Amino acid sequence: MSQENAKRCNKCIMPNTCELIPFEGDTCVLCKTLETAPQAMADPIEKERLLNEQIEQIREKGQGRPYDCVVGVSGGRDSTYLLYLLTQKHRLRCLAVYYRTPFTHDVVDGNIRRIVQYLGADFEEIQLSQEYHRRIAREMIEIWKKNRHHLIINLACAPCKLLNRETYQIAKRRGVSTIVYGGNIYEAVQIAAGVSKKQVIGKSGRKIINLTSKIRKMLALIWNGTKLLVTTPAVWKYLVLGVKSSIMYISPHALYLALRYPHIKAIDYYYGATWSEKECEETLEKLGWQRPPGCNSSWKADCCFAEIKNVLFKKTLGITYADAFFSNMVRAGVMTRDEALRRFQTEGKLSPERLKETRDILGLHEPLFEGDELG
Ligand SMILES: [Zn+2]
Repeated sequence: MSQENAKRCNKCIMPNTCELIPFEGDTCVLCKTLETAPQAMADPIEKERLLNEQIEQIREKGQGRPYDCVVGVSGGRDSTYLLYLLTQKHRLRCLAVYYRTPFTHDVVDGNIRRIVQYLGADFEEIQLSQEYHRRIAREMIEIWKKNRHHLIINLACAPCKLLNRETYQIAKRRGVSTIVYGGNIYEAVQIAAGVSKKQVIGKSGRKIINLTSKIRKMLALIWNGTKLLVTTPAVWKYLVLGVKSSIMYISPHALYLALRYPHIKAIDYYYGATWSEKECEETLEKLGWQRPPGCNSSWKADCCFAEIKNVLFKKTLGITYADAFFSNMVRAGVMTRDEALRRFQTEGKLSPERLKETRDILGLHEPLFEGDELG
């Protein structure tokens, strides 16, 4: 069924084309779960108090150290806004850590270099091989063509997972005890490896990260990876990268990182703060942040590979990142369903310009398959 003609959930905008997110009648299981077990809405005052407490802890731990925190920035919307909040609102001394991927447009690269300087943060660039990154992405697309498995799509992005390792190493070398990340809470329902029918973002937007959840996550990764190795022998060649990018460094909260760097704490800022898209966009405009050409949304503007990934996810799982993102915002009550549907018309659209740019970067001149959107 094509995405355009798909029936969408009558509560959020999730299409009924993804078997991992089944429907009960006209409603998706994520909305149904929320209906039967509504999550308590966080008290905004209490939330603000907890956030300030956390910021003060970061400041305290930063005393006598060169920086209060290391901040991972990509040049994209949310991490740029995060750097603004940390340096201007909370007055923390930040070291911005950045990696220019093969899929970072000049406009995005220019954004972050200019804004970091304007905000008075220090800057350190991570050096990973762009050619290696490009090669892995290209080879995974080739493997995916033979076996359309969503974990293979994730493996295409494995080199970026190594950034978690690099960022911890920088924090350790520089003697910084906190790393702050700007992951968007509304991206939290994964449409791939960590997909869970029970995982629902409530109005509180809080996600609990503890040792048990870290262990559980690691075991799930091992299990899924093993299944993939059995069904797709072509990925054996990437076993080391697969282990590194999943079990060891899949997220800043991976068990391995917690054990390896017990004195460094990783924090997801937006999991504790109230994220307002409007304020974020307004601030970025003031900072002169620009969207790269052909990009339909300011969200995920930092990586043009996301366009190809969207096509692959759509073909594999029946949904795209935009489906999940907008649906999450509707479910969390920060956007109406009508607004989500309206915005999806432009922001959920694949950009032919960006797809072509990505294909050129990868040196992919053949269509992925007959009749594909990339042909
Ligand atoms: Zn729904």
